Amino acid sequence: MIFDKKAETMPRKELEQVQIERLQTTLNRVYRNVAFYKKSFDSHGVNIESIKSREDLPNLPFTTRADLLAAYPYDMFAVPLRDIVRIHSTSGTAGKPLVVGYTKNDLKNWTACTARLLAASGITEHDVVQIAFHYDLFTGGFGFHQGAELIGASVIPASTTLAEKQITIMKDYKTTALLCTPGFALHIAQEMDAMKIHPEQLSLKTGIFGAEPWSNSMRRQIETRLHCTAHDSYGLTEIMGPGVAGECEERAGLHVNEDHFIVEVVDPATGKWVGEDGQGELVFTTITKEGFPLIRYRTGDIASLISEPCSCGRTFTRITRVTGRTDDLIFFDGQKIFPSEIEQILLDVEGTAPHYQIVLSRENGKDIMDVRVEAGESFEIDKLGKLEAMRDTLVERIQQELEISAQVHFVEPRTFERATKDKIRRVIDKRESV
Ligand SMILES: [Zn+2]
Repeated sequence: MIFDKKAETMPRKELEQVQIERLQTTLNRVYRNVAFYKKSFDSHGVNIESIKSREDLPNLPFTTRADLLAAYPYDMFAVPLRDIVRIHSTSGTAGKPLVVGYTKNDLKNWTACTARLLAASGITEHDVVQIAFHYDLFTGGFGFHQGAELIGASVIPASTTLAEKQITIMKDYKTTALLCTPGFALHIAQEMDAMKIHPEQLSLKTGIFGAEPWSNSMRRQIETRLHCTAHDSYGLTEIMGPGVAGECEERAGLHVNEDHFIVEVVDPATGKWVGEDGQGELVFTTITKEGFPLIRYRTGDIASLISEPCSCGRTFTRITRVTGRTDDLIFFDGQKIFPSEIEQILLDVEGTAPHYQIVLSRENGKDIMDVRVEAGESFEIDKLGKLEAMRDTLVERIQQELEISAQVHFVEPRTFERATKDKIRRVIDKRESV
């Protein structure tokens, strides 16, 4: 079902006009209210008035994650704090998180965007929607929650409570739609086997999964084991949260909500547009956001545009599934973590930057992170007690600062290869989805 027919099926020409008008307003807003953008536009010699079409976009400088980190906490906000009604942030990291703010209008638009995604997956007011994303600083839970309420579905804010409890809720409350990370969906399937609950005992029809990359084989597994149709969704906190793009009933690419966001695909090395439908880094410009507008934000996510019109009737362009990253960001258990954040904790605890490797695997559908750290040359067998204490401290610090459970193992000195001219392979990912 198309939630907002007028917007979602708008002729392309009209849509482009809407985009340019909204972009102009946004550019004026950020130039006036955000010191970073005033400085950035001035130093790049940008004249806002000269941006008159999509083709002029490359004249605007990019915004990067580093820019956002440097603006901690509120320097990128384009309105005074009294106009902000909601604050979210990226997951707790060893450094500073990215903090984003929403005005009343932003929340209204966000709600409409997630409602479109839910409707495109076939969810209506007759559905019982179980949201098993984190309900906290993370945008997943709240983002989908408000959209599901707008549709009029019965919403269960299950958050990320234990799989066993999720299954009991699904069975007893007759959940028809499940929303969570694909990894958690598989973990739930695994737990159902253990509890000897057959998917036919559930009422599940639909699932929307996202917040981490996943493959088509994982989609098939989820569909077979949970007896539901699985839809992909794309969004990130910096841009808005969930609701940036999502699959329609055709499930052949994710429609970008183009009346709120302009999407570009650039070569990660040169920053130039890739050819039509070529693969590259997704870059987003928000064109309706008041609290936290972003101009040409480099997401680090690798995908392509699908310019061919979709048979569902929506005119919004589609992006393919995200196939990779331009950096070494790890998607783990619904969180995003950079290896450098683990490294910082190792450095804090050990006093020197140790050699280490992060091994990711999946057992019973659950993500496992094993941080393997080389013991310093000076550690001898009789100091094992000290190593154990240090391991416990590391596990605790990772839990506290990154909000994930990791295992830590010490290995013999010089286990890992040393840097040659190639980059050291810090992360070994044995999970099938990536
Ligand atoms: Zn479509």
